[in-house]
Amino acid sequence: MKESNEIFLKKKFRSYYKSGFIDSVPELEKREFGYGVFGKKIIARHLSFSTAKEFNSFLREDTPFFVSYSPAFYEFPDKRPMERKIYLKSDLIYEFDADDLKTDCKQKHDSWKCKECKSKGKGLVEKCPSCGSNTETEEWVCEECLNETKKQSLKLINFLEKDFSFSEGISVNFSGAKGFHIHLRSEEIQNLSAAARIELLDYLTANDLELKKLGFVYSKNKMLCPKESEAFGWSKKVLFSLKELIEKEDAEKISALGNSRTSVIKKFLEKKELILKGMKNGFLFPKPSASEKFWTSLLSALVEKEKLFLDRQTSMDLAKIIRVPDSIHGSTGLQAKSFSMEEFKNFKPLEQGIIFSNNPLRVFIKSTPKFSLKGENFGPFNLEETELPEFAAVYLLARNSAKLV
Ligand SMILES: [Zn+2]
Ligand SMILES: [Zn+2]
Repeated sequence: MKESNEIFLKKKFRSYYKSGFIDSVPELEKREFGYGVFGKKIIARHLSFSTAKEFNSFLREDTPFFVSYSPAFYEFPDKRPMERKIYLKSDLIYEFDADDLKTDCKQKHDSWKCKECKSKGKGLVEKCPSCGSNTETEEWVCEECLNETKKQSLKLINFLEKDFSFSEGISVNFSGAKGFHIHLRSEEIQNLSAAARIELLDYLTANDLELKKLGFVYSKNKMLCPKESEAFGWSKKVLFSLKELIEKEDAEKISALGNSRTSVIKKFLEKKELILKGMKNGFLFPKPSASEKFWTSLLSALVEKEKLFLDRQTSMDLAKIIRVPDSIHGSTGLQAKSFSMEEFKNFKPLEQGIIFSNNPLRVFIKSTPKFSLKGENFGPFNLEETELPEFAAVYLLARNSAKLV
């Protein structure tokens, strides 16, 4: 009888924790910790450690499959209920997850199965198209969807730096599975009130944003806009984005976003210089017909394009705990690797997050789409025994998509 996935992985994870020292959480003694086991991300929380050394001993001896810490700082992090911990301040954390973004690649690597009528298919489908029941889904990630989450993360950093001049104390890491975590740890951020955090979130996600309030007002057959020199924040973003579109003369895109025919827009763009001049002077050049509708539609689409997609609930929850950077994600066996901002653009999570060896390992694989790790392609597999490099085998064992033979 071969070892279970759980026992095998625990040994592997322990060897990883014994080979290094995790010191990625500043002021660790004021944080609450939690951990999980095979198949369960959090089974216990309200733990605390007084030093990084003590924390690392815990990782080596108990070797949890998941370990999380609180962005919040407490006087007594291990007390409960929450009120007794006495909240002091909190980092601000944003999570970007491939699950939250609609990408075409999901059609290739995700699949669903209906528990009731047994229908199945490709893609991420939550309700069965035949009978309407809830489906069971199997989700994978690839370079394409992780790249989309990277784009969102970089957009957030751009927002923070350009719109708020927050550039100190930003630290980033791969989540270990489907995306990235951005930790904001500067003094001014940590002391933001709950209300200020919501305000910031509203700004980033363009929640309740009104074009009128930005200065895009339709009056006397003209769409007025803020003057370039006076624009800031969102009005500047929208103006800049619009200017870029017009300068590029991308008639197809403009017509799609503005809900207008391409031929009409092509003709309209012949007056490009006049349009750009108008923008400088505070108005958007009238389109021959349905001008208000056109500009409103185009401007709204630009807001959609520029805004961030953030999960509201998790962004606002001050009591949540989040994966410790550089720890292992127990359902992938990948490292939640932290890296510098300079490295972000070229960071490859499915290569640089790998911590296990190339030694061959025999496994029986249930079913997988084609997947890629460390620049190598694997699969698709369906009920077959094969030899894989250890890092790929661990990935499948942790997902429970394979077992040892
Ligand atoms: Zn069904
Ligand atoms: Zn993908």
